[in-house]
Order: sequence, then C-alpha cells, then structure tokens
Amino acid sequence: MINFIAILERAFPTRCIICDKTINHFVVCNSCLAKIKPIESHCLKCGLSLKTGFHEFCGNCIDKKLYMDEVWSLYDYRDISQIILSLKLRRSLRAKKAMEQLIKYAFLMRENQQVYNLDGINCVTFIPIHWKKRFVREFNQAEIIANIVGKLLDKPVKKMLIKTKSTEDQTALPKEKRKSNVKNTFKAINKPEGGIILVDDVATTLSTLNEAAKTLKRAGANKIIGLCVARSSYV
Ligand SMILES: [Zn+2]
Ligand SMILES: [Zn+2]
Repeated sequence: MINFIAILERAFPTRCIICDKTINHFVVCNSCLAKIKPIESHCLKCGLSLKTGFHEFCGNCIDKKLYMDEVWSLYDYRDISQIILSLKLRRSLRAKKAMEQLIKYAFLMRENQQVYNLDGINCVTFIPIHWKKRFVREFNQAEIIANIVGKLLDKPVKKMLIKTKSTEDQTALPKEKRKSNVKNTFKAINKPEGGIILVDDVATTLSTLNEAAKTLKRAGANKIIGLCVARSSYV
C-alpha cells in the first residue's frame, strides 16, 4: 500500500515534533535534539536513572527477582514523550526518523561507556500487541523500534511472541493491577534460543517486559535483555 503519510511529509515543509518550528527536513529540529540527552547511567535491573554510574542493581532492586537478566533504558520518558506519542498515535515517519536518531545516539554513548554487552545475543524481538489492536492500529510501535534496534546492533529481528488475550492498556491501570493484567497473556512462537533482546517503547512498572521475558525463558531462551527506549517512573 502507498504510504500517504510519507508522501505528505515529503511534499510539505514540516514542523519540529517538539517545538513546532518549521524545518526543511523531517525529524526534530537541531536545537530540540541537542537538548535530549540519553539517561547517563542506570540500574541494570530496573533501568531507572542513577547518579553514580551503571550498577548491577540499585537500592530498590536488591531483592528483586526478574526474568530479565538486564534492563536497558535509553531515555527518560518525559524527555521524549512527544516522539513516542507521535509514533504510537500517528505512525509518523518523522517520529520514526527521530526515534532512529535518538536510539543511535544512545547506543553510541553506551558503546563508549562499554556497559551494554551483546555476548550470547542471537536476535531482537518485541512486545506483541493483540491481533485485534493490530488490526485497528495497523502497526505495532514496539516492532518498529525493534527493527531500528536490530539494524543498529546488526542482529536479526524475529517475532517470538504473540498476545493471546486482549488486555486493558497498562497506562490506564493503577500500579498494583498492571502485573495481573498481563499475567499469562503471551505465548512463545518460533522456539526461542540463546540470548534475546526484548524491546518495548515505554516501561513503567516492568510488568509487561517481565511477563514476556518469563514466557521466552520458559520456552527455551537462556538470556533476556529488556530494552525500553523510554523509562517512566510511576507517579
Ligand atoms: Zn524543535
Ligand atoms: Zn533498580
């Protein structure tokens, strides 16, 4: 199908997704982009920002047991919310380009810090959405992000999970209900093997990523890295 959004975005002068300033190329304007900084360092268990470098776990995570071996978070949700929403709600090509640019920038920074280890990682996968939602929305933003991540890390992207139940949107639920809302809602397809990077756009309580990681581990994966582009803390 012809992508009319892409044609329109190319044909007309565009505006910066963040400040609305007119720009001649799509994406975010340079002054907005310069202000967006990746999370400098974070807890490798919950992905929340830390002031003292990358650590295996933070004070809140000492006793936390997760199915993910590590959590990587690239940006604070508040800093990139316009881009996330633009990708999610409008499937904007500009938002996709901006996302590509931001993920690349964050990975480059991590490469210099040598904290993200890809040993044993076979492929990249993503949090699926239920087929009904996919039918209405026509795309899954986590899949779009997984494709960007796979390209940048030179790893194949494979669909490994399906969502078997249509659940309520996690953002509409209070913290205590988010775990039960996603419990046993994923099913593994394509036998997962070795290490897998599991991608989602936003993580708040980690319930979704952890439930999906549980499903992949039980189906045979031996290492799961949960990667969220935007880490939000529940407020
Ligand atoms: Zn701007
Ligand atoms: Zn932590």
